[in-house]
Amino acid sequence: MFSTDVRMNPYWSPLVSRLQPYTPGEQPQLEDFIKLNTNENPLPPSPRVLAAITAELHREGTEVGALRLYPDPQSLALKAALAQRFDLNVDQVFVGNGSDEVLALSFPALLLRDAGAPPLLVPDISYSFYTTYCRLYDVDYRSVPLAEDFSLCVEDYRQPARSVIFANPNAPTGLLLSLDQIRRLLEMKPTRLVVVDEAYIDFAGEAECTDALSAASCAPLVREYPNLLVVQTFSKGRSLAGLRVGYALGDASLIEAMERVKNSFNSYPLDRLAQVGALASLEDDAHYQAVRQTQIQTREQLASGLRALGFEVLPSSANFVFARHPACDAAKLFSGLRERRILVRHFQTERIARFLRISVGTSTQCTLLCEALAELIKN
Ligand code: PMP
Repeated sequence: MFSTDVRMNPYWSPLVSRLQPYTPGEQPQLEDFIKLNTNENPLPPSPRVLAAITAELHREGTEVGALRLYPDPQSLALKAALAQRFDLNVDQVFVGNGSDEVLALSFPALLLRDAGAPPLLVPDISYSFYTTYCRLYDVDYRSVPLAEDFSLCVEDYRQPARSVIFANPNAPTGLLLSLDQIRRLLEMKPTRLVVVDEAYIDFAGEAECTDALSAASCAPLVREYPNLLVVQTFSKGRSLAGLRVGYALGDASLIEAMERVKNSFNSYPLDRLAQVGALASLEDDAHYQAVRQTQIQTREQLASGLRALGFEVLPSSANFVFARHPACDAAKLFSGLRERRILVRHFQTERIARFLRISVGTSTQCTLLCEALAELIKN
């Protein structure tokens, strides 16, 4: 039998032995769960996405259509549409197979340094994939504690470092750092790269906000700061987690570094269906705005429902809330909900083990969740 003990396995590379792979939230095979554990959007993507994918499948007028052929390795049509949306040049846009891949490629491209160089700074409570990538690429990092209330204090980053990475809104707290603070961080040391992961930025702002872009996004700052890389995704605000499309916006020299690594790794990270589907989604701004506003409203409804049950709920700018109950053990609530076929996320991590992270589902799903929690709390 094969041994799974990393120290004993003669076939594994030393790299494999030091990895601590990221554990994503459970993806149940059965459909009968209310799934509020991986921040997917409960609302459907634009119908134009399905139409574009169907058209692509049947292009060339044959049964197998365009799938016979490799996709555009540069995803140029999609990059051009993103460049237009953000008022950037095409060479300031990078696309990848979900923002996880985009983030992953930023490590060898931009964050890896010679041994002995100052470290990468990462908030102590943040998306745990960042430190997973650090181990994969052997990037030296230092964890910077968030304040007691989980806010990020920019002055804590005034220390020797070659680069900084954080999520805004942060995950799993949902807290948002203001654009003024991000500017301060960028100006603290202009030679220091700042990577801002805006996976949840579509939900930052008020429900009635109708700006084409979230006003909280630092994407417009890319035009001013050559040390800024902004990473976004189609998975959350555009309801396309299954299509796997993410992108980065930054100075052309940063994007060139990303392209060099990508082209040393996989020429075709975005398949044909992903490229046309993402493009169609970008072309339907009305749908995007409507979904975003509904989810912001439902988030506020969910937060009020939880507060009425006695939960402390952090102010969220994302499509999830982070909440703790003063009298109930979060692990017990998590398993009680799971028995009732409701999945949420619980992290057995220092400082946040008392919290549950709950994705904003449909309004009905959120009501069912609150009813289940009310029952569990009573018992
Ligand atoms: N960043 C953060 C903070 C996330 O929570 C996620 C989703 N787990 C991602 C990036 C990756 O999203 P995707 O790969 O679906 O674009």
